[in-house]
Amino acid sequence: MKDTYLHKGLRKQLVQTLTSKGIKDDAILDAMFTLPRHFFLDKAFEEHAYEDKAFPIGNKQTISQPFTVAYQTQMLQVKKRDKILEIGTGSGYQAAILALLGARVFTIERQEDLYKKTKKLLNRIGLDRIRMYFKDGYKGIAEFAPFDGIIITAGADKFPDVLFQQLKVGGRMVIPFGKTDKKKMLCITKTEDGKMKVIQEGANFRFVPFLDGVNESSD
Ligand code: SAH
Repeated sequence: MKDTYLHKGLRKQLVQTLTSKGIKDDAILDAMFTLPRHFFLDKAFEEHAYEDKAFPIGNKQTISQPFTVAYQTQMLQVKKRDKILEIGTGSGYQAAILALLGARVFTIERQEDLYKKTKKLLNRIGLDRIRMYFKDGYKGIAEFAPFDGIIITAGADKFPDVLFQQLKVGGRMVIPFGKTDKKKMLCITKTEDGKMKVIQEGANFRFVPFLDGVNESSD
């Protein structure tokens, strides 16, 4: 896998686009400048890797648009060493950004094909410290709870109570939530008495759905 000056130049432009769309966190912009997004795309879409768009990654899923990744990550307010749970590993791009920010990343994917493919990729590019799980994200990972942050990268139409239980008091959960196709980006925290409090209501986004259960490989 090659990363060229051309790729770097395109990433610089992408970072400028993100800045013009309101992303202010320098650590996030640096991570997005550093990470070659074209590694995470199928060959057919590689040349479009630095457009601010979502692309198919197989199994009817998509790699999130760079703006969405930056927006969700900014809402999460990640600090170094934070234990972060991501739901919806997909291509692994969002997980890799979190790892570059110094987080200890746990990520769950329900599509076995994508899980296998992304596990290989993350190992190959030296991000094997990201802990990946093939399971239903609605269940979270109780044995590693509580998490400083939980980021859901699929559109939820029902609230994941079990995941909220696995959030630390004062932690942040970023979730695209709503009953229709358009999901509102919410940032939720847990108060001292264990209650849910919405701390930020963001913009609307379209996502692939947050589904129950797993989908095993057919091979
Ligand atoms: N974060 C990803 C975005 C992938 S799209 C990236 O950076 O590429 C959302 C992903 O969520 C899809 O791969 C989909 O299969 C997955 N997903 C949906 N419901 C899930 C669930 N219950 N548990 C785990 N993953 C889920």
